[in-house]
Amino acid sequence: MTAFGTVFTPEMILSRFDGSGWSTPEIVPSDSLTLHPGAHVLHYSSTCFEGLKAFRHADGSINIFRMDKNIQRMAQSTRMLGLPEIDEKQLEAMILDITGRFAADVPEPPGSMYIRPTHIGTEPAIGKAAAPSATSLLYVLLSPVGDYFSGGDTALRLLLKEDGMRCAPHMGVVKSGGNYASSLHSMMEARQSVQADQVLYCPDGQVQETGAANFLLIDGNEVITRALDSTFLHGVTRDSVLTLARDLGMDVQERDLSIEELLERAAKPETEAALSGTAAVLAPVGTLIHNGKEQAVGTGKPGPMTKRLRQLMNGVQWGESEDTHGWLTRI
Ligand SMILES: *Cc1c(COP(=O)(O)O)cnc(C)c1O
Repeated sequence: MTAFGTVFTPEMILSRFDGSGWSTPEIVPSDSLTLHPGAHVLHYSSTCFEGLKAFRHADGSINIFRMDKNIQRMAQSTRMLGLPEIDEKQLEAMILDITGRFAADVPEPPGSMYIRPTHIGTEPAIGKAAAPSATSLLYVLLSPVGDYFSGGDTALRLLLKEDGMRCAPHMGVVKSGGNYASSLHSMMEARQSVQADQVLYCPDGQVQETGAANFLLIDGNEVITRALDSTFLHGVTRDSVLTLARDLGMDVQERDLSIEELLERAAKPETEAALSGTAAVLAPVGTLIHNGKEQAVGTGKPGPMTKRLRQLMNGVQWGESEDTHGWLTRI
């Protein structure tokens, strides 16, 4: 089994912004890029990306999940970083083109084709620490991925962190490299000190998100997660799972969740918690670590509701149940 995101199709699609317009997208080898060592991205982190998936259905068709949402988020990240405005229609055409070319390489469920649009500032100008890059590169990489849960459905250990933040509070909505670099140190420390799998950032004692996934608490019929604000990434999976939970008649609450309430609810045997993101859909959380103490979430094992919601999502993605919300684009 190869690690997630380490296998790529041999080609990608790329367009350049030269300061005035976008070039016609080209299909190019995916194993290298030529960049000036003074390129803006390498010094001032003018970079953003997206992550979405294409799925193979039983009828042989290839279907991309919520592409519009990911493109809109890419446009927003681009604006927040002062990168040249993307043309959303062009990016959509690029995603459809490259995914169509490698349609034969889209794995069967539970595998999928992970699609990684990337936008970087390329202007060779190391004096531009306080100014945006005038030029940029937009490309779409493809990575066939297997079953996220092939190693078994194990419940994660999270360290609740009240001091420090994942990233600057106005940058949470931006899917940008610097945010991941800024959270790495606390994550490595958490792994080393308490063998945590992830850090759950809780600035001001309020639950926010982990380094690369949103957090959901499931307590009986209630689903509780932080309301959208600028401090964290607005996951497409979060939105989709909440929509499916509402369809089931569950009581979805987008609101503040304090560490105290989280720990109190986690102590009840039926409570579940999960991390949401494109890679796993929902990954169960089994243990919360706070102030040197460990609190199991419910039984401490993957729970039935987490699994049910994941199966509902997979059903739509894999074409096994009706796409009632119009989330799929058939290519
Ligand atoms: C990508 C990401 C998520 C999950 O977003 P999805 O659209 O559901 O994949 C959550 N938090 C962070 C910090 C992320 O980078």
